Amino acid sequence: MTELATPPVQQEQELKRISHWIGGHTVEGESGRSGPVYNPALGLQTAAVDFATPEEVDRAVQAAKDAFAAWRTVSLSKRTAIFFRIRDVLDEHREDIARFLTAEHGKVLSDALGEVARGLEVIEYCCGIPELLKGEFSEQASTGIDVYSIRQPLGVVAGITPFNFPAMVPMWMWAPALACGNTFVLKPSEKDPSASNYVAELLQEAGVPDGVFNVVHGDKVAVDSVLGHPDIAAVSFVGSTPIARYVYETGTKAGKRVQALGGAKNHMVVLPDADIEMAADAAVSAAYGSAGERCMAISQVVAVGDAADRLVQAVRERLPKIKVGNGLEPDVEMGPLVTREHRDKVAAYIEGAREQGADVVADGRETAPDGDGFFLGVSLLDRVTPEMDAYRDEIFGPVLGVTRVATYKDAVRLVNENPFGNGTAIFTRDGGVARQFQFEVQAGMVGINVPIPVPVAYYSFGGWKNSLFGDTHVYGPEGINFYTRGKVVTSRWPDPATSKVDLGFPQTR
Ligand code: NAD
Repeated sequence: MTELATPPVQQEQELKRISHWIGGHTVEGESGRSGPVYNPALGLQTAAVDFATPEEVDRAVQAAKDAFAAWRTVSLSKRTAIFFRIRDVLDEHREDIARFLTAEHGKVLSDALGEVARGLEVIEYCCGIPELLKGEFSEQASTGIDVYSIRQPLGVVAGITPFNFPAMVPMWMWAPALACGNTFVLKPSEKDPSASNYVAELLQEAGVPDGVFNVVHGDKVAVDSVLGHPDIAAVSFVGSTPIARYVYETGTKAGKRVQALGGAKNHMVVLPDADIEMAADAAVSAAYGSAGERCMAISQVVAVGDAADRLVQAVRERLPKIKVGNGLEPDVEMGPLVTREHRDKVAAYIEGAREQGADVVADGRETAPDGDGFFLGVSLLDRVTPEMDAYRDEIFGPVLGVTRVATYKDAVRLVNENPFGNGTAIFTRDGGVARQFQFEVQAGMVGINVPIPVPVAYYSFGGWKNSLFGDTHVYGPEGINFYTRGKVVTSRWPDPATSKVDLGFPQTR
């Protein structure tokens, strides 16, 4: 077994410093507190990110508040033009953004480019903001009375985001928020913060006025300052379930609108009639892509009847072909995990599953590349049962579990009994069964012969149960609703016939 390495740490003075972005400028933090940022492929600390004080969060909120008055009056056509420029500038720099992601998150460059592409789709959707903000109009609701609805921005809104999609998840939030006329304070993950500052610079280049988009870095202190700030109207959160619950409860208690997306344990049901080769390809890419650090990763296959032996064999055959290494190398398909601690935690699940009775078909600890990087190879655990920790917990690493059940009904029961309800998938050739699955399964996003059913930008993304606190999904139409509030106007104008000016109507006075 490969010994799991401890990363060398550079001297503090050699490290890059990552500071806040407030009011269109870099603002160095004054808390004296910072967090380490690693290059996970090298196992090396490369930067230190400033952790904000409540006063620094307040400064960002004030910048956003000051910018709001003007930004909300920018016409829809001008905002649309700015969004087209944002799209062009980010597109032009998509590889630069992706390189930040690979350097600090570890995902392979092709995955990082895919992340930016999916984020850009949300921006493209927001280019249609005049259409998306159209209200309704009822003429002559009563005699001489018209009623119409308009949607208006909330003011200053905030986003708190996870490490696993450091560019795309913030785009899910800031793009619709800004398009709707709000100003934004982003508190990104402290593990891979650089992409957020880089995007802030690109937004400035695209013509977004200073103060409309701000970034404060930090930990719980910054998050609590956001949640308690009286001038923040709404908070969007994506991250783990315990923090999502905390953010939802704390933010709503402070009177804010909150959408908080949590963790996941996505099951992929494979029926005996499925195309097993197709299902195996899907399971491999969805389980090990981005080293399993995706909230839409398939972490658990539920194999029905005799699908199990064939599927486990087909997945096993594919595993040796997955090249693990530094994500900047062109032929590498899976990078490292984000931190050493996380890698060790994931590795412990493999041992735990063995002790609790699972068959360890492939042990990623044995196939991790040499070096100081936070690497694990891919793992496949067969005969995982619902009592095992590897089944119950979100592992968030390149570990795929297989649970064997006798019938379709057993499979659906497992999915529905799981406390998470982010995404799920079914592989079958039977349309009737697939339709029944879509009808009765308790998850927010369902794939039919599709392993990672991340909705396209013109639908909304979100799970059920412990995968979402609040009632609004992110981006798409629900994102537009989240970042606006409705106003209904009932209007009556004096009868023109009563006008003092003779306009040609028959005069009544
Ligand atoms: P995390 O919950 O540790 O961190 C998310 C954010 O919360 C970060 O900005 C972090 O600084 C902040 N935070 C962490 N601890 C905090 C605390 N005690 N108090 C206040 N704020 C705190 O999540 P992560 O490890 O960065 O990301 C991985 C998790 O995110 C996984 O559980 C994954 O499933 C989930 N995720 C969910 C979705 C989804 O759409 N449902 C998408 C991506 C990731």
